[in-house]
Amino acid sequence: MKQPSIDTNEFRDHLSNVTDNGKRIWIYPRVVKGKLYQYRTYFSWLLLGLLFGLPWIEVEGHPLFMFNVIERQFVFFGVTFFPQDFHLVAIGLLTVIVFVILFTVIFGRVWCGWACPQTIFMEMLFRKIEIWIEGDYKAQRKLDESPLTTEKLLKKTAKHSIFFVLSFLIANTFLAYIIGKKALLAIVTDNPLEHLTGLFAITIFTAVFYFVFARFRELVCIVVCPYGRLQGVLLDKKSIIVAYDYLRGEPRGKMKKQDNPLDTLKQTAKGHCVDCNICVQVCPTGIDIRNGTQLECIGCTACIDACDEVMEKTHQPKGLIRYASLEGIEQGKKLQFNLRIGAYSAVLLALVSGLTYLLLNRSDIETTLLRTPGLTYQEEKTGVSNLYNIEILNKTTQQMPITLAVEDYPAAQIRLVGKPLQLKGSEITKGSFFIIIPKKDLKDSRLKLYVNIVSNGKVIDHVKTSFLGPME
Ligand code: SF4
Ligand code: SF4
Repeated sequence: MKQPSIDTNEFRDHLSNVTDNGKRIWIYPRVVKGKLYQYRTYFSWLLLGLLFGLPWIEVEGHPLFMFNVIERQFVFFGVTFFPQDFHLVAIGLLTVIVFVILFTVIFGRVWCGWACPQTIFMEMLFRKIEIWIEGDYKAQRKLDESPLTTEKLLKKTAKHSIFFVLSFLIANTFLAYIIGKKALLAIVTDNPLEHLTGLFAITIFTAVFYFVFARFRELVCIVVCPYGRLQGVLLDKKSIIVAYDYLRGEPRGKMKKQDNPLDTLKQTAKGHCVDCNICVQVCPTGIDIRNGTQLECIGCTACIDACDEVMEKTHQPKGLIRYASLEGIEQGKKLQFNLRIGAYSAVLLALVSGLTYLLLNRSDIETTLLRTPGLTYQEEKTGVSNLYNIEILNKTTQQMPITLAVEDYPAAQIRLVGKPLQLKGSEITKGSFFIIIPKKDLKDSRLKLYVNIVSNGKVIDHVKTSFLGPME
């Protein structure tokens, strides 16, 4: 038996929420109840707690997470990454991309349905508020089609006011991830004239979030999201997706009231789908999952819950719509480990191992040492000296007093220009110093030296440099 509509593929020629004239069809999804929806709700509480809470958590006065793209400073789990750690950020991003690909190849759009902030905010926050104020899908449609009354005005004002406040909160949270909690609080509490850029950013973010959740909605997943657009190349017949078991469901048909469902099941000519259309009514992107895999499906599982309820009422086995692969449905096969999964896993493992090694061996400081340009050497009473410029990036949040020492060259001395070096947390410290070597100890006119950076008696970095002396 073939999947319905698969011969014509006519449903793929247009979007489910756009008319032939290109006008938007507003989607009023029916309220979902069911086990998976319950699980998604609990999971969303956890994610919302993390999303709103993480930017406010600090470790020893420093943020736990921060993605400051403006100053190119990224903090993950309290560890600060600077532009000097670009290789780590690049490998980390590559690892995430490979992980997402691998995960999607195996489990389809689980991310979209369960964890994507767009779905979580839309379905678990804004949609619930809409249902709470305006009622279920029928009441919402009726309200929109009705003329303006006091009740409509009150409901719409209440809904959009709450949407606006939520968008403002999300915008602030979003900004806190970028500039950090302290800078955000300064924008909120200081004189507004001192933070015009910050206030402008909050206003723009609020407007964007309000537009996305009040108007644009499912179009983000269907039209804008690049991950959604990639599904066509990531998914195959073995991927686990939300799928309609057309072998079991077709030929679909209404179940008459006088039908005994148990008798109906025995009739091989009739499938289990009673063509109630509830799976379409609950879909937030307005598609009919019975047409097969579609780009618009965000894997939200609403149709699984809805159909299971119908199956229960009609005394048929649940799972007519379920998590399954197309191959699994066609051949009754379970998910198997195949060459593609193996290859992706191997690449992922190599990336994670490499990243872990680099992270564990990441130095706390990064030193740049250069002989002062334009100078060669100076002859002094105690020997020959070279002048150096040093820049030390302290990647930790702690202050560090440091001293410098020339490695394996006991005769060499160091004379600092200015005050002793003190590294401030997450900052670059600059300084200058002379290395002085007694003339009798100069074995060559160009020496290779290593300078140790020592803090609390421990060598925390060492850098190579050269030392120039007079020609013999
Ligand atoms: S909810 Fe189930 S029974 Fe109803 S139309 Fe959809 S697939 Fe068929
Ligand atoms: S088809 Fe089902 S899983 Fe996909 S978006 Fe619609 S309701 Fe959600």
